[in-house]
Parts: sequence; C-alpha cells; structure tokens
Amino acid sequence: MSKVHEHPLANNPAIKNFRKYLQIKSVQPNPDYGSCVVFFTEQAKELGLPIKVYEFVKGKPIIVISWIGINPNLPSILLNGHMDVVPVVESEWKYDPFAAEIDKNGNIYARGAQDMKCVSIQYLEAIRYLKQNGVKLRRTVHISFVPDEELHSADGMALFVKSKEFKDLNVGFSLDEGGPTPNKEYVVTNGERVCWTLEIVCHGNTGHGLMLIPNTAAEKVQYLLNKFLGYREESRKKMKHPHPFYDLGNVTSVNLTNIKGGVQSNVIPSKITMEFDCRVTPNDAVTFDALVKQWCQEAGGDSVTYKYISKDPVLPITKTDDSNPFWKAFENVFKKRNDKLILSICPAASDGRFLRGIGIPVLGTSPMPGTPFLLHDHNEFLNAQTFLDGIELYKELIPAIANVE
Ligand SMILES: [Zn+2]
Repeated sequence: MSKVHEHPLANNPAIKNFRKYLQIKSVQPNPDYGSCVVFFTEQAKELGLPIKVYEFVKGKPIIVISWIGINPNLPSILLNGHMDVVPVVESEWKYDPFAAEIDKNGNIYARGAQDMKCVSIQYLEAIRYLKQNGVKLRRTVHISFVPDEELHSADGMALFVKSKEFKDLNVGFSLDEGGPTPNKEYVVTNGERVCWTLEIVCHGNTGHGLMLIPNTAAEKVQYLLNKFLGYREESRKKMKHPHPFYDLGNVTSVNLTNIKGGVQSNVIPSKITMEFDCRVTPNDAVTFDALVKQWCQEAGGDSVTYKYISKDPVLPITKTDDSNPFWKAFENVFKKRNDKLILSICPAASDGRFLRGIGIPVLGTSPMPGTPFLLHDHNEFLNAQTFLDGIELYKELIPAIANVE
C-alpha cells in the first residue's frame, strides 16, 4: 500500500461522507449492512428527516429516508441505491479497496466508488443543500438503500416491491443507477436487457471415431454455432460505439458459455449440450425467441431440443415522450444545462426492473462523465470533482421531478 498525500478536496464535507460510506465493507458475500444502518441513521438525523429500517429477512435491512412534500398525497419520487458491492481481488488493487484513498489527481479508489455508493451520497448531499436553502418540494421524496442487488435482489428490491410497506410509499416515479461515459455526456437508461440462459441439446448417431457416419451431434452443433455466432457478429456491427453504456444495451448479445459431450476421443458423441448467455434487448424479445426455435428445428428437427434454464420476463420500457411528465422534467434539466444526454437501454439488470415490473416508470443514471468503466473491475475509482459535479446535477434533477404537477 503506497501512502498518498491528502488531496485538497479530502476536506470537503460531501467527499468525507462519500469516503465514510465507501469505507463500510458492505461487500458480498458477507456485507456489513449493520454499519450501513448506523451510517444512514446518522445521516437522517443530520438532515432532520425520518428514517425507517425494514427487515423482511434477518440481516438484510431495507432503509428508507423520507422528505415529505407539500402535497404528500401525490405519488412520490423514489431515489434508489443498493448498498452492497461485489468482491475484490485485493492483490490487484493499487490501494486498499475499502480505504477510499484519494490520489494526487483527486481520484477516490474504492469498491463501490462507481457502483453505486456515489449516487446514494449524491442524493443525500443534494437534499442537504436543498433543505438548508429552504426549498420545499411538491411531492414526497423517498431515498432507499437496499441490500443484495449484486445477488439478484431476492432479499432486496424483489422482496420490497411486494410488501405493504412499499405500497404505502405510493411511488410514482423512480431514479436508479446507470453508468459512466468516457466523454463529457451523460447517459440515461429507460429499460434493461433481460438475461435468458439457453440450453440446447443436440443428439446424433454414435460410432467409432474413424468412421464418417452421417447425422452426428457435432454437425448440428456446427449449424447452430454458425447461426448464433453470425447473429452475434450482426449485433457487434450494429453498435456504433463500443461502450457498455452507449450501444450495448440496444442490441442483443449471445455468447457460448459452456459446451459438453462425448466419452472419449475415439467415440463419436451421441449427445452434445451447449449453453448460451443471451442478453436480449426489449425490442428483440419476440423475434429472438422465434429465431432460437427456428434454428433448432433447422439444425436437426426432433433431435435438437432446447430450454431456457432461466428466463427473465420482458418488462415495458419507461416512456420517453410527452406522455411522461417525469421524463420531460428530467430531460429539461439537461437541456437547460446544455449537457448532452444519451438515451440507452441498460446492458445489465438493475433493481429498476422490479419497479418496472409493478408499473413504476424508472430512469437509470449515475452521473460520471469522462470516467472509465470500472464497475466490478480492479481499481474502481471516481474523481472527487466528478462526484461533486454529480451533486450539482441532482440539486436540479430532484426538484424538477419532485415538482411535477
Ligand atoms: Zn450497481
């Protein structure tokens, strides 16, 4: 561990708060959620806002801080963030991944710096500023801190949205996480790709490895691989910008992730099984399903079978037209600031999908322009100034969406 001199921004109160949250080891598989509860309870106290901690599953708290609006009967705004972070390979990091060190360039290194502790603190710091300046918002704003997003949210948002406690929040619109962009623009997502894990089994004639027998499993595998990898190549060509938060979510990706079959090298296998990781963009869902069926049929009729080991439901995307006043309010903030906003589909799944699943419109954004994509990577960092700029953005975004009539 190399020692660094403190950057001048290290004394900024918002940066201090961010680093304090980053230093909590809410890392899977044994996240310290207890310290998160203590931390957010302190935050709520400082902000003078009520806090509730729900524990539907022991040790998996769901925390909600609320800022009651002038008209609390209107549907509320939910600002969501997950508390957990993915594991680290500590030896690959320049600094201790839970020390939140700032280097001389102002980069804060920590697991969760991008995904997504930054956003949760930005929400709170923007609200702190607004409250201190006497701002009152029309709608109630709830800030939620949820567990286990990185474990598919079974004990987190998936559970929370089904509860009476969630229903009582009367959420009408939500913000959730997005991702960084390499240039000066911002990205917002209004839907997610769904994950479908596909298993295809090809049956064929068996026999001695020296024979040239017809109708083998391998020939069916060959046909299917050509189709799937051809489709994969078409998706690659459709992408104009090879960045996860520009174009990737707008195309469907397929990857062969597992292939097995055969007993030994001189026996032709009677059965070969393949697995594909398919990430299907909402617009492709119907056609992709039909293609899989067609290709399997063409490859070998009844001798080729397929099933989805898991298949996420396809959810409606959040409308980005005049019918959605929250979108208009959101978009107008960027227009007024002269900031470029890229609308995209999230390439991965986020907690937003559970909200969409019960009909709540969701936009995903994590304001990190000019930042390399380091989610789940070694040496994840966020620049302190970029983090502070994000607070400035939320100071405008939160009132804009919470004041929608
Ligand atoms: Zn995340």
